[in-house]
Amino acid sequence: MPKLIIQKYGGTSVGSVERIKKIAGRIVKTHKKGTRIVVVVSALGGTTDELINLAYQITAAPSEREMDMLISTGEQVSVALLAMAIHKLGREAVSLTGGQVGIVTDTSHTKARIVDINTKRIKAELKNKKIVIVAGFQGVSPEREITTLGRGGSDLTAVALAKVLKADVCEIYTDVKGVYTADPRIVPEARKLSVLSYEEMLELASLGAQVLQSRSIEVAKRYNIPLHVRSSFLEAEGTRITKEVKMMEGVLVSGIALNKNEAKITICDVPDKPGVAARIFKEIASGNVNIDMIVQNTSRTGSTDISFTVEKTELSRATKVIKKVVSIVGAGGVIQDNDIAKISVVGVGMRSHAGVAARMFGSLGEAGINIETISTSEIKISCLIKKDKAEMAVKILHKEFDLGKKVKRRQS
Ligand code: ADP
Ligand code: ASP
Ligand code: MG
Repeated sequence: MPKLIIQKYGGTSVGSVERIKKIAGRIVKTHKKGTRIVVVVSALGGTTDELINLAYQITAAPSEREMDMLISTGEQVSVALLAMAIHKLGREAVSLTGGQVGIVTDTSHTKARIVDINTKRIKAELKNKKIVIVAGFQGVSPEREITTLGRGGSDLTAVALAKVLKADVCEIYTDVKGVYTADPRIVPEARKLSVLSYEEMLELASLGAQVLQSRSIEVAKRYNIPLHVRSSFLEAEGTRITKEVKMMEGVLVSGIALNKNEAKITICDVPDKPGVAARIFKEIASGNVNIDMIVQNTSRTGSTDISFTVEKTELSRATKVIKKVVSIVGAGGVIQDNDIAKISVVGVGMRSHAGVAARMFGSLGEAGINIETISTSEIKISCLIKKDKAEMAVKILHKEFDLGKKVKRRQS
């Protein structure tokens, strides 16, 4: 019997009053067995999107501080409702905001980093046998400003609490049975993985598999925190994410990830001189814009094009910075492309096997899907393709790498 567990319930798991009551029942059942529980809850399904939408109906460029004031409210609703549902079942529970817990972050609004968590309040409540319910996704800066941890940030709250409270396990409850070989909403034959390494999960998540926030896996990996992704509706085992996973020989690809939330920016006719790329990316970094997939063509005429991707939510900020940089370095202009999707194959088996890229490009080519940009690392290959071909490409690659087939994996 674990002594202390962190359970995180995502938005879909608290999508309605009925679901909140069900979860309350599940939490109480575990608590009655003698396990201390800290629950982290997301906003009711769809709430964060609705709040963001409201902001954009008022202005195209909302202040990031006010954005955090707004979007952090969703989690305050769900924690209070869950606490009430637990009270109704005769058990003691207390809901706390990030600020009340003492989750201290830096001042980087809408994507803040946790710098410290004060465990005093939670420990005191646990000692009093209470179930502690923490609002996910939020913290406070040293100046007492409310901050949020980036989309999907409740996962990070849960993992960070697991670390500081030395929990036995961090359980991530969601609307699917675990981590699959591809998004099961796109590929019905996708298979649930019983175990997965931090490394592979980190790649899948940062390449678009929404099921876990990538920053939360970075923290879990750094501190070796066991994660268990599982269904909030069913009792069955989900996916365990740990350090090392032993696999049968021959598994090249573990999963396919899709990201439709990025846009491509191309800076045209950049002078091909030493220091120019550095100048461009220094300016972009100082604008606090995160970029991905940088590609520069070889120049034959003394100038070249540089393309990279950014999160769509950062596009307007990125464009502002880049327009400035274009005139500084004397480039020709900027082109934006919103119509792209990034599709990736991920697997530690790729380290020791050649030929994955050829199979990936070959199967996309046969289906008439054009590859615009390619980037690779040791355990992944990503391609940018047209957005309207994205789902089809996921299905094709899932089939190409035979991911519906059962493979033996175990924790080592
Ligand atoms: P929550 O609200 O619980 O945080 P999310 O919507 O953030 O849930 O993540 C769960 C969703 O992630 C699933 O509904 C599924 O459609 C999507 N998803 C994408 N890729 C995968 C994958 N490889 N395995 C499981 N789910 C995935
Ligand atoms: N509610 C936040 C979001 O939708 C945080 C989370 O769900 O983890 O991004
Ligand atoms: Mg999520």
